[in-house]
Amino acid sequence: MSADPSLILDGREIPFVPGQTILQAADDAGVYIPRLCDKPGLEPFGSCRVCVVRANGRTVSSCTYPASLGMVVESETPELQAMRKVLLEMLFVEGNHFCMSCEKSGHCELQALGYRFGITAPQFEYQFPHREVDASHPDILIDHNRCILCARCVRTSRDLDGKEVFGFVGRGPHKRLAASTGSRLKDTNADVTDRAIDACPVGALLRKRVGFAVPVGQRPYDTVPIGAPEPVQEARR
Ligand code: SF4
Repeated sequence: MSADPSLILDGREIPFVPGQTILQAADDAGVYIPRLCDKPGLEPFGSCRVCVVRANGRTVSSCTYPASLGMVVESETPELQAMRKVLLEMLFVEGNHFCMSCEKSGHCELQALGYRFGITAPQFEYQFPHREVDASHPDILIDHNRCILCARCVRTSRDLDGKEVFGFVGRGPHKRLAASTGSRLKDTNADVTDRAIDACPVGALLRKRVGFAVPVGQRPYDTVPIGAPEPVQEARR
C-alpha cells in the first residue's frame, strides 16, 4: 500500500482524495464503472443504481458511497454485471425506446450500455406505457417515452444553469418529469442554450430543428464503446 489514501478496486490499488466517492476515485484512476444518472460536475444522485459495486462486502451505489482507506471494492464480477444488466433491461421495457428512429441514437448512453452488456431482447415484457410528448416550447421538446428519471436535467438546470426548469411529479410508477411550474415547458424560462438539455443521457430532451446534425455512423458511440479508456472517453464528455 502507498502512503496516499487508497482502496482496492477489483484487486488493483487506486488512490483517492478524501471526500471522493468510489466512482470518482475510479474515474480518476481511469477505471470505468457503468452509470447513467451520474455525470461529472453534478451532485451525485444515486437513482439508477447501474454503478452498483460491493464495498467491503456491502452492495452500494458507487456514485454516492464515500471511498475509504483500505476499502475492498468489487465491480467487474459476474454477479454485479448481471445486476447491472437487469437494471438496464428494466429501463428498456419501462419506457418506449425506439432506437432506430431516435435522434439520440449513437449519442445515447442507455443504448451504448445496452451494447456494452450485450442486450438484444430484454428478459422482461415490454410495458409500452402511454406517455406524452411536450412540444409546447418553441425550441425544446420533452419526449417522456424516453425519460429514465435520472434527474440530470433537474440538477443541471438548478446547479449549472441557475434555473429550476424541471422537477418530478407523482410517485412510484406514476413518477414523471415535469416542468417545475407544474404545467408545460412553454410556461418555464427554459432556453435553447440551457446546459440541462445536453445533460440528458437519452433522447428525452431535444432541441427542435437540429435533428441528425451529426450523421448516423459518425456519432460517438457508433465507433467507440461507452467506457472506452481515456483519452477517447474524455473527449466526449
Ligand atoms: S429528461 Fe433526460 S435528463 Fe431529464 S430526467 Fe429524463 S432522462 Fe434524465
